[in-house]
Amino acid sequence: MTVSMLQSSYLNYIENPNPDDFGPSIESFLDWLEKPTAMLLTGKDSSKIRAVCTLLHGNEPSGTKAIFNYLKSKETPRVDTLFIIASVEAASADPLFANRMLPGKRDLNRCFRPPYNDAQGQTAKAICDLLLHIKPECLIDIHNTSGSGPAFGVAIVEDANHVALTSLFTNDLIVTDLRLGALMELSEKDVITVTIECGGVQDHSSQIIALEGLQRYLSSEHVLAETGNEYPVNIYHNPIRLETKNHGEVAYHQHPSDKAVITLPEQADKFNYGMLPKDECIAHLSEGGLGQLTAKDHLGNERLDEFFTEHKGKLYARHPIKVFMATTSPLIAKTDCVFYFIGYNTG
Ligand SMILES: [Zn+2]
Repeated sequence: MTVSMLQSSYLNYIENPNPDDFGPSIESFLDWLEKPTAMLLTGKDSSKIRAVCTLLHGNEPSGTKAIFNYLKSKETPRVDTLFIIASVEAASADPLFANRMLPGKRDLNRCFRPPYNDAQGQTAKAICDLLLHIKPECLIDIHNTSGSGPAFGVAIVEDANHVALTSLFTNDLIVTDLRLGALMELSEKDVITVTIECGGVQDHSSQIIALEGLQRYLSSEHVLAETGNEYPVNIYHNPIRLETKNHGEVAYHQHPSDKAVITLPEQADKFNYGMLPKDECIAHLSEGGLGQLTAKDHLGNERLDEFFTEHKGKLYARHPIKVFMATTSPLIAKTDCVFYFIGYNTG
């Protein structure tokens, strides 16, 4: 297969780029990339390929910065490595790294399943086609969470290989049966894939986790499970999404907003740390109360009343819950979800 055959109008393909061409900064690197780009780097051992994808969301820079640093170091990876940097145009739009996707475009990490009938779908399909052609031994997809929080992995398969990959970056893994058209669903097509949420953009630790994890992933002889090795990873199954019904407004303020069905504290991402006890007020609810919220599990069953209760216009958990991906963005909260949670309903 020649380089030109791996090119697509939706995904640029380059072999062994010269890092001197990238310019001095992450901005100049994005300018050089120009559009979604795959770069293949020859490793010390060319019998295997590992893949790294990042920037499926243009406002999540940690993975791109880690790849930029790695390439600039001119180190040779242990095995051949395919880097994919996806939403270059969205990330480059002013202000830099502020747009998850360009206005009017679909969320690229929801496009890895048919129909592929728009530019986002075609880009996702080009990424999939390249990966299925190149057949890497595994794939890591690096993201940032929209609020502050600790790092964790997400996978759709729970086995030793997915756990071993996660352990290169973090000690927590969420295994979900929910299918949204995300890149990690390639695990169903025999590409072992783990999404790494390396923490919020504002968290200094996110950059360190992305950099150090990438370094381990690219320099280790083995990254998949080896018999006899123990991987200290906590596994959480099927987190449930807390959402507002019909994309009801979400606000972040000390006092209840009269425009929003739910008002969370301005630092709602504090819920991402540790356990959320049942006596901690999560939010103020407007007059419609709990009925304006929904928390359906991956089977589509409504679980709201099982896990949440309302007392004097305030929302509480009925039992301690573990919260993931609590955002402080009203737009993400209303169009995606307020947060994900795992309940410990011990009855
Ligand atoms: Zn993301």
